[in-house]
Order: sequence, then C-alpha cells, then structure tokens
Amino acid sequence: MDRRSFFKGAAASYAALSTRLTASAAQVRTAQAGPAQVTMPVRNEDAAKPRKVPYKRIATEEAWGPPEMFAMYRKLLDENPYAHPGLATMWGDSGGGNPIVARLVDMGERRINDMDASGIDVALLLLTAPGVQVFDAPTGTSLASSTNDQLAEAIRKHPSRFAGLAAFAPQDPKAAAKEIERATKRLGLKGAVVNSHTEGEYLDDPKFWGIFEAAEALNVPIYIHPREPSPQMLQPFLQRGMERALYGFGVEVGLHTLALITSGVFDRFPNLKIVIGHAGEALPYLLYRIDYWQVHKKPFMPKLKMLPSEYMRRNIYLTTSGVPWAPAILLAQSVLGMDRVLYAMDYPYQFQIEEVTMTDNLPLSDADKKKLFQTNAESVFSL
Ligand code: CA
Repeated sequence: MDRRSFFKGAAASYAALSTRLTASAAQVRTAQAGPAQVTMPVRNEDAAKPRKVPYKRIATEEAWGPPEMFAMYRKLLDENPYAHPGLATMWGDSGGGNPIVARLVDMGERRINDMDASGIDVALLLLTAPGVQVFDAPTGTSLASSTNDQLAEAIRKHPSRFAGLAAFAPQDPKAAAKEIERATKRLGLKGAVVNSHTEGEYLDDPKFWGIFEAAEALNVPIYIHPREPSPQMLQPFLQRGMERALYGFGVEVGLHTLALITSGVFDRFPNLKIVIGHAGEALPYLLYRIDYWQVHKKPFMPKLKMLPSEYMRRNIYLTTSGVPWAPAILLAQSVLGMDRVLYAMDYPYQFQIEEVTMTDNLPLSDADKKKLFQTNAESVFSL
C-alpha cells in the first residue's frame, strides 16, 4: 500500500482504531493492579485546551521540513526506489495533500495556532528525519546550511515561540563540525540534530568525532533523533511494518546511544551532551542489565572509565516525545534524575492535545513539573 492509500484508509479506519486502543487501555487497567494512571494515548485534535499552569511548556522535539527537501526525497526515490527503502515508506508520498507534510512545512500561523491550542509556549524545532543524511556529501552539506538559514529566519520572526537545532551532514564530518559552529554561533541555533545512522554508519566511528569535539567546545547538545533502522538490520522490521515509530525508531536510537557509550566517546569528551527522545528509547528500563554485563563480560567489552549508567546520568538527557505516560516518565526520572528528563510532544507526528494534560497530571510536585516542562530545557538548550 502506498502512503496516499494509507492516509485515505486511515480516516476510515480511525474510529475502529480508537475503539481498539480504548479496549486495550481497559485491558491494561484491568490486568494491572499497579499504578492507576496507566492509560493509552488516543489521538484527538479537538480535545479541550490544557489548563493554565505555573510553568512554561517548552516542547523540545518538534519537527519541521521545507518543501524543497520533500521534493528532493521524491527525486531520489524516482531515480532509484530501492536505494533508500526506509525513505520510500516514510516519504514516498510526501506530495500535496499529505496532512503531516502540511504541518511540517508551516513555520507560521498554523504551527502557532496548534501550539496555542495545545498550550505549548515554545517549540524547539528539528529538521525532520532523515534530514539531509540520504544525500551525497556536497548536497547534504549544502542542504543543511540552507535549511539552517531558513530555520533561523523563522525564529527571528517568532523569537518568543520558536527555537531550533541545526541540521548537519555527517557525510562530510569536517564540514558538519563547521556548520554546527556557524549555526550556533552566527544563527543562534541551540545545538544540533542527527537523524541516527548515515547510510548505515554510526557516530561511534572515530572518523565522526570532530563533530563531538565541536559540540563539546561550543557547549551545545546533539539530539539523536530516530529514523528507520540501518540497512544492515532493516529487513525484518520492514517486512512487519515496524520500521518506524512503533518499534524500529527506538531500537535504532537505543543502539546508537549505547554504541556511543561503549565506544568511549564520553571518556574522550566528558562534557559532551547528548539528548534522546521517547522517554530514553527503553534504555532507562534496561540499565541494570546493561551495567551488569558491562562488568561481568569485561574481557569482551571495551574498557570504560565508568559504568554505562554513569554516562547516562552524566552525558545523556531524555525527552518525553510521544510518551506522555506516567510509568515511563517516572521510571526515567527515578533512574536518571529529575534534572535529566525534558518535555516534548513530537509535533506533528503525535499532535495530541490531551497528551499535554496527561503530562500536566503526572504525580509530581509543581517544582518538579517546572523542571520537566521548562527549566531543564532552558538549561540544556541555553534558552
Ligand atoms: Ca520526532
């Protein structure tokens, strides 16, 4: 099924989907004698606007993308639909009428209306996946620079509502480091975003470490945003329709983050700040076992100065993007600390007004909610 048919079918099947999600939420609640706040999010753009709260809501993983980038994706797919199988399922149908694209390209009224409707004061904008990372090095480098200029211009028009992270092309690591410096020092962007692997390569390869050297020297974070799993492991996900947000994204970024830790990147760059989304891509949940096997399989594991969990608590920040779910957020906060978890919506992919209310309703003090929604983001991204 192509994406056009998918979106046509999606409207018709939405009522049935909502019923299924509601049913599964009921089953979860019935089956579980534990926390009463376990509920599954259900999409509803007409929900009531979230209430006034004694903190700013800063959303830190909000996507955008210019029309010319989607046109370049379509051209790439026209030339060879099999060269980028993840790109085909993600953006094979990104032409007119795609409701997600309509929101991604809007850097003005529609986006701000959506923020107002959902009570979001400030959106930190990231070039959507896979960004510039599917192009040859000169094209990717040039597109990163022009999209960063566009993003900076949108922020200049709406300085109290938007902030942004710089795109860069790891295909040319030297140019990438220079672009991160230009975009943060001259354009005022607040860090950089990488959409996980680049043609199957991960940033644990020392050939990319000039990028980390620049980010550490500039004291700006790098956000590892998902894309589909790398070509080496994509097929089983693709065959089952799991290559995107359902599971593949989390596996991909979880692997990338652990690869950075075990490569020794954080021993070499102890002040490097990495941000990952989706309540930590399951890593907080698994940290005990990751530490255990790092210690007990030492002859087979690289030598590190600290435990993986200690790097997680020193170098990694998490956002809640797409996971407005008390069990996951409270676990991440308890494992990593209240200062390391930041709010994000994942607009427009998971534009759900009631997820803001779900997050407002977490069983936390107002002081801790202010950290989650506002001050942690101000601190990590120097807002
Ligand atoms: Ca996202």
